[in-house]
Amino acid sequence: MKKILLQFDTDPYPSSFDAIVAYDGGADCVLGYANLTPANVGPLVDGAIFTRSPKAKQNTAIFIGGRDLAAGQALLEAVKNKFFGDFRVSVMLDSNGSNTTAAAGVAQIAGEIGGKRAVVLAGTGPVGQRLAALLAYEGAKVTLTSRSLARARQACAAIRERFGVEVVPQEAVDGEARGQAIAKAHIVFAAGAAGVRLLEERHWQALPTLEVLLDANATPPWGIAGIEPSDRGKVRHGKVCFGALGFGGFKLALHRACIAKLFERHDQVLDALEIYALARALAKTD
Ligand code: NAP
Repeated sequence: MKKILLQFDTDPYPSSFDAIVAYDGGADCVLGYANLTPANVGPLVDGAIFTRSPKAKQNTAIFIGGRDLAAGQALLEAVKNKFFGDFRVSVMLDSNGSNTTAAAGVAQIAGEIGGKRAVVLAGTGPVGQRLAALLAYEGAKVTLTSRSLARARQACAAIRERFGVEVVPQEAVDGEARGQAIAKAHIVFAAGAAGVRLLEERHWQALPTLEVLLDANATPPWGIAGIEPSDRGKVRHGKVCFGALGFGGFKLALHRACIAKLFERHDQVLDALEIYALARALAKTD
């Protein structure tokens, strides 16, 4: 029986990236749908849950993507609300690669996070919000910066509501302010938009407490000057550095593994914590 992935996207067209990784992860057929909302997704979920016998249902799964994390989360809740009894299929949320990217990044340093001070720079986007949530989940004292205090507060409130963890909002309007924000940090993750430089090398190279730097931005100019995109645990100025491409290969492997896992059972929900658990398991064999 064919493994069919329904790709539910909140954007005006389904992501080609997510479709290709779906095939690479083991789907035989990917059906992409765009502009999905809680109001219009119902009939598509019916099609997924009413077409195959309970034993065969694991061959149907749902992937939720799109640029907007809040819209993706709302869509996930709407999809789950349609499920009842055995009429359900496995579903994964990864709006803008947020869960797989954040899980892959945090898994790089798992075991060295508890009790540390972590700063997520420009953490208001999908990747930054999930990075902050996972770092806090691992026991770090996390600060999330934005150019706007209101946006930082909004992101921290969303994280608290979803994960029950506290993240401290901080305004940092420019490179100098971001440099001050990381002055006492042990861990710095840069989650700024593609092609946006957040820190110069002088902002971090001499910081005495700083242990780990990770930059998610894979589009030049990189988010943190002085780190190479291919860095994966490279020590620079005494700090362990990860560039976007350095952990990006692991992110892709994780995304593929999540797709494969969806087809193992028909009753799984893969969101940040489930994807992070898989990342930690994969990291041990990586
Ligand atoms: P995003 O939503 O596009 O942007 C994140 C934040 O960047 C925004 O919320 C904004 O925060 C800040 N920002 C935007 N323009 C800025 C500017 N000119 N100066 C300073 N800050 C600015 O990003 P995302 O989707 O969460 O992704 C984060 C990063 O991860 C991106 O670079 C993306 O390309 C990368 N990514 C990497 C991988 C990988 O495998 N390595 C996978 C997926 C994504 P405020 O407006 O609140 O300041």
